[in-house]
Amino acid sequence: MIKNSKVNSTDVAITKNDSPTKTINNGIELLGGISRFIGKEDKVFIKINLRAPSGFPVNVSIDSLRALIILCKDAGAKKIYVGGFPNYGVKTSTLNDTLGLKYYLEKLGAELIFLDDEELAPFSNIDINGKNIEYPTRVLESDKLIILNQVSVDPLFKCTLSLLNCYSLVSSKSQKIDKVIRSGKDYLLLDQFKQDLISHILDVFSIKKPCLVINDMFYFLEGAGPFIYKDSNLIRTSLVVSGSDAVAVDLITLNLLKIDLLSSEILLEARNRKLGITNGSEINLKGESLDDNKLIVNFSVYKLNEITINNTYLQTGRICSGCFKEAYYLLNFMKTHMTKDLKYIRTQSMLIGENPPEPDTVENIIVFGDCALTTTKNRDFRYIQVLKKDNIIKTVGDKVKKEKSSQKKPIVKEKVNKSIIELPGCPPDMLMSLNTILKYYGKTQAPNLSFYNALLNQFGYKESGKLMKKKGVTNDV
Ligand code: SF4
Repeated sequence: MIKNSKVNSTDVAITKNDSPTKTINNGIELLGGISRFIGKEDKVFIKINLRAPSGFPVNVSIDSLRALIILCKDAGAKKIYVGGFPNYGVKTSTLNDTLGLKYYLEKLGAELIFLDDEELAPFSNIDINGKNIEYPTRVLESDKLIILNQVSVDPLFKCTLSLLNCYSLVSSKSQKIDKVIRSGKDYLLLDQFKQDLISHILDVFSIKKPCLVINDMFYFLEGAGPFIYKDSNLIRTSLVVSGSDAVAVDLITLNLLKIDLLSSEILLEARNRKLGITNGSEINLKGESLDDNKLIVNFSVYKLNEITINNTYLQTGRICSGCFKEAYYLLNFMKTHMTKDLKYIRTQSMLIGENPPEPDTVENIIVFGDCALTTTKNRDFRYIQVLKKDNIIKTVGDKVKKEKSSQKKPIVKEKVNKSIIELPGCPPDMLMSLNTILKYYGKTQAPNLSFYNALLNQFGYKESGKLMKKKGVTNDV
C-alpha cells in the first residue's frame, strides 16, 4: 500500500455551519490546517463524485470543491488534478460538455483529468490479492490523494461512504464483479456477489491511501437516491466529517446516521484487513458532538417489493446483491420516468432471481437476470393455449359439422408465449435493459422511455461502449 500522508492522526472532525464552504474550512482547521496534509510543490489529486451528466448531489458539490481547491492552493500545491470515473461507461468529456467543469476548474487553478482517455491519462497495472487492476497513473504519481465524497443513500451500503468513492478511481470494467462459485458454497445464500464486491472495493482503496478524506453531508439525498428518483428527498444537515483515516471518517459518518460498525459489512471487512481505525475509542473526535448531531433519515428500501410501480407486479425468487442493485435502479427509473408509459402498457410482470413465483400476467413478462432466465425455462407462463384453427367456424357447412360434433372438446394448441422480455446478465446492465424494454414495447406504447433512452444515448452512454473499447470500458457498473 502506498502511504500518502505525513499525518498519522486518529483525529476526525465533525463540523456544522450555515455555509458549505465554512463547514469544509472549519473541519480542516480543526485537523490542524491544510498544511498538515498538503506540502509546498505537491501534486494533488482530488477524487470527486462524477457519476452522470447531472448536477449535484449526483455529482460533487461545487461549493465544497471550490473551498478545497482554494485551500490546496493556499498550501502551495504545484498542481491540483480533479477527476473520477463516471458510471455506466459514460465519458468524462460528455459530463464536461454538460457541466462545463473543465473551464470552471481552470479558472480556479485546477485541472479536470479525463481518466477514461488513455492518451491523456494512462493507467498502470497493479497486482493485488491475485487481481490485476488498471489504476490511473496520474493518481499513483500524485504526491497526495484527497477524497471529497458527497454522501447520500445507497441501496447496498446504506450510504455512499468514502471507501465507495475510491472505487470509481478505476473504470467500470475494473469494477465488474465476475460470478465465481466456490465449491460447496451457495452463491446466493452467502451473497457472494456482495462479499466479492466489498473485497474488490477494499483492494482498490488499498492501492493508494488518501491523506485527507471529507465526507460531505451538508446536503444529503435520502429515500430512493442517489440519483434523483421520484421517492428521493434532499435534506440539509449542515454537517461535514473529515479526517485522514478514511475508515474512521466513514465510521463516524455512519454513527451520525445511527449505524454502528457491526451493521456495516464493508467496515467490518476493513477492520479484518486492518485498513484503518474501527475502534471508536481510538478516534479523537473534534468539533461538534457526535451524540447531539445524530440524524434520522430515510434510507433506500431493503426489499424490491417495496418499490410500488403503477401496473407492475413483481415476483422475486432467491436473489443476491447484484440483481438487487440493478433491479433497484431499473424499477426506480420506471417509477420516475415511465409513469405515462405504464398507463398505456396497462399491465406488466417482472420476475427476478432464482425460481421466482409465476407471474401475475400472461403478457408483458420481464424476466430479469440469468438466475430468473435459467430457472423459468420450462415454466407454464412460457406457453399459451390457443384454439386450433379447425375449431373456428367459417362457413354454414362448418356450423353444421360443428353442431354434430358439439359434444367434442375444443382442440387447444400450445404456443410459445412471445410476450416475454428477457434481460440476460449476472446482473443485467440497466441501460441495456432499457434498450431491450423499449424495443419490445415500441415508441407508441412507451413514448417516455423512448425520449429518455434517446437522451441517454445522446449523453454518450451507448456511444461510450464503442469508443472506449480500446480502454476496455464496458457498460457494466
Ligand atoms: S443473475 Fe442476479 S441473482 Fe443470479 S447470481 Fe447473478 S446477480 Fe445474483
